[in-house]
Order: sequence, then structure tokens, then C-alpha cells
Amino acid sequence: MQLQFEELDGSKSCRTGKGSAVAPDQALAILKEGNSRYVASKAPSATLQSRRQALSDDGQLPLVAVLSCADSRCPVENIFSLAAGDVFVCRNAGNTVAQAEGSVVASMEYCMQNLKTQLLVVMGHTKCGALKGAVASIPAADAPEPKQDASVLENYLVALTPAAKQAKAELPRASVQEVEERAIRINVKNTMGKILEVSEPLRQMVDAGRIKVEGAIYDITTGKVEFIGGPPAPAPLSVRTGKSASVPGPEALATLKAGNARYAGGHAPAATPKGRIQALSSDGQLPMAAVLGCADSRCPVELMFGVAPGDIFVCRNAGNAIAKAEASVVASMEYCMAHLKTKLLVVLGHTKCGALNGALASIPAADAPPKANASVLEQYLVALTPAAKQARAELPRAPDAEVAELAIRINVKNTMRSILEISKSLRQQWESGDLMIEGGIYDITTGKVEFIGGPQNVGNLRSLELVEQPNLTPQSSSCCQWC
Ligand SMILES: [Zn+2]
Ligand SMILES: [Zn+2]
Repeated sequence: MQLQFEELDGSKSCRTGKGSAVAPDQALAILKEGNSRYVASKAPSATLQSRRQALSDDGQLPLVAVLSCADSRCPVENIFSLAAGDVFVCRNAGNTVAQAEGSVVASMEYCMQNLKTQLLVVMGHTKCGALKGAVASIPAADAPEPKQDASVLENYLVALTPAAKQAKAELPRASVQEVEERAIRINVKNTMGKILEVSEPLRQMVDAGRIKVEGAIYDITTGKVEFIGGPPAPAPLSVRTGKSASVPGPEALATLKAGNARYAGGHAPAATPKGRIQALSSDGQLPMAAVLGCADSRCPVELMFGVAPGDIFVCRNAGNAIAKAEASVVASMEYCMAHLKTKLLVVLGHTKCGALNGALASIPAADAPPKANASVLEQYLVALTPAAKQARAELPRAPDAEVAELAIRINVKNTMRSILEISKSLRQQWESGDLMIEGGIYDITTGKVEFIGGPQNVGNLRSLELVEQPNLTPQSSSCCQWC
């Protein structure tokens, strides 16, 4: 170990890209010795020009990568008595990747893969303001609706609250300061775990014993670094796959509502761990809901409900309609309910829908003799006119925009009703209470989804006037009203 200090000392030769990698235990011993020199207030060596020249010519070969806090009281090189070329450093407030910060994880991948570093240290510190803020943000994290117009910092502190909550749960009767100190330790463990969860290459290198990950706490008063061991054992990834049990309709609806509140509140979606994709591939899907939404690019179904791959089965077309008994949509829904055992079906319209605006404008065409050479789109909009006509009849003196908004709601109800008219199996499942069906309206301005109830609110299905929707029956799916 003696030689290492001579290597670190700027007066001697330094480790460059031409050297060989430092083993993790050796690197850790160097950090410990360097920290004891710092604690003993020994002056660091001067950085010689020859060292800078060698590093510039031959590249770096850092002995450790450190993720530490941005706090000015935590100068990483000083704490470990290290010089240029010794340590690859990422720092942010709270030394975290709580929001799967790509810049940090990518930097660590680069260092371990390209610079051959074999030790990664996540270092928290006493009296960390970020974790103090996280403890104070627990009420905000528990609020039923995320705060509107929250700053990036506020959202970040909320993302740090899992560590704070765990600390509070472990120390129910402790002072706020004690909870904060515990949260700082838990956060270091969480960060190590999250880095390995997000980064497949780093996880593989740890599993293969090629690199080591170590947690540390820097005491800003004494200057001492306490090493606290490696990452927690990975929690089993909870992924709902074809091997799981179905999610009951009301539970699925509650999950969609909670996810939409996060989306409308401006929260970033979670990263998708590779393990989830692999599990879904090997064990199949078991979506908690099927959604028929609009093709409109402003209506991203998965994003608006904050869900991950495998969570929802999605059909989309212009106007979220089956006005012409679209077999592809109804068949998809039958498949999802029968084979994937999904218990919730959502028909989702949205404000300012171009398809329903088009249907309103197509009322004259629907009432006129059939147009020769009508495009597929024109025929489709005519098929959507029953909803537009009903809205017009209910609001005879309202402006077009208001009528269109009502038509959007009527169309969602018509679609739910038509699905049950066309599909015998879905009707049976719905009537037996095995399938829950809900209509929703997505507000493209606020991002909020309003749920408007199911087909039970749209009148007696048996008495449906098919005259109102001439193309509704499955038999008419292969032709149109003009042929
Ligand atoms: Zn800090
Ligand atoms: Zn639309």
C-alpha cells in the first residue's frame, strides 16, 4: 500500500490511462488513508505541471468514482487528500438519482466501463439540507393532489421523501433532527440501489464482481468519512405479468385516477427498469385496464395515466368511436377481457376533439342524399353525426364549440353502448359484474381526466334505437349506408 501514496503524491509518477486499474479494496484503503490525513489537517501536495502533462497526454484512470452532495462543505478531493486524475466526481443536492437522473447514471457507466474504475462510492453527509427538505416535504408527498406549479426543487424534494418516510417509520418517537440523520443514511442506500436498478451494465459488473459499490457518510464537523457498506439487496421487482392475478375494476380505476393526478400535476413519469420489460416478455401481459382513446397526438394514454409498459391495453382511433362497428376495436377489447383477464374498460374522449367537431360540421351531409365518391373520412364523420345531432337537439341555441363539447360526451356514451350492442361476450361479462366499464373525458388543457360513469347511465340497452345509428350492427361492418 506504501507505493500508492507515492503514486498519489504529485512529486512522483502519477496513474494515467496507460496504467493498470486499481482493485476496489485497494482503492478503498487509499480513500481511508487519505481521509485520515485530511482529518489530521495535513496539507495536500501541490499539483505539479508534470502531473497535468501526463494526465493530458495519457488520459485519466481514476481510482474511484464518487457521487456526493453539491454542498460546499463536502469537497471530495480535499476530503480524501486526492489530486487531479484520482477521482471522477458527480455531485448534486442530496447525492441522489431519485428521478433516475440520466446524467449521473450515464457518467458512472462511462467511468466504470471506459475508464476502468472499479470502485463507486455514494457519499452523503451530516446536516444535509436536501434530506432536511425531504423530511419537511412528507406532507406535500402525501397530499391527495400534487401541488400545481410546483418548482423543480419542490418536485425533487418530494422524490426524496421515500428515504424520509422510511426514517420516520423506523424512528417514530425521535426528534426531527434524528429522523433527518437517519434519512441521510437511508438515502445513500437508496441511491446505490437505484443506480443498480437503472443501470444494467453496472448491475452486471457488480454481479460479476468486477466493480464494488460502497456507501459513505461524511461528517462535516469532524471531517471523518464513515463507510457504511454496499447497496441493499435488490428488492424483488413487482411486475404484474400473465402469471399474476387480475386487478379488480375499482382498484384499476383508482390506480388510473392517481396516475392522472400525478401527470396533471406535472410529475415526470418513472423510468422503466429493464427487469420489467424482461418479465413482461417472458411471462406475458396482464393489463389492469383496456382503454379506447382518440388518435389525437395530444392524448397520450399511457402518459396521462402515469402507467408503465404492461399496465394498459390501448386502442386509439379518431374520435374514440366504433360508429361503423369497427371490428378491429371490438375484437381487441374482447381479446383483452377474455384472454388477458382485464376487468376495466375505459372509453376516453377528450376536449376539442377534431373528430366530433367534424361530425358536427357533417350534419348537413348526413341529412343530404349520399355524396358520390365520399372519402373514407367523410363517411366516417357522417357515421359520428348521431352524437352531434343529439347534442344540437339538446342545445338548440348554443354556439358550435359548446355543442361540440356535449357531442364529445354523448359520443363516449354511444361508444360504450355500441361496444355492448356489438359484443355479446363483453355484454355478458358486464352484466354479470365481472367487467367494469367507465367513460372518461381528458381535458387537453389541464391534463385531467374526468370519469363520467359507465353504460348504466346511458339508458336501457335493449331499447336502443338502431335507426339512430344505421351502421351500428356487425352485419353492416362490411358496407356503408350508401352501397
Ligand atoms: Zn447535502
Ligand atoms: Zn380526438
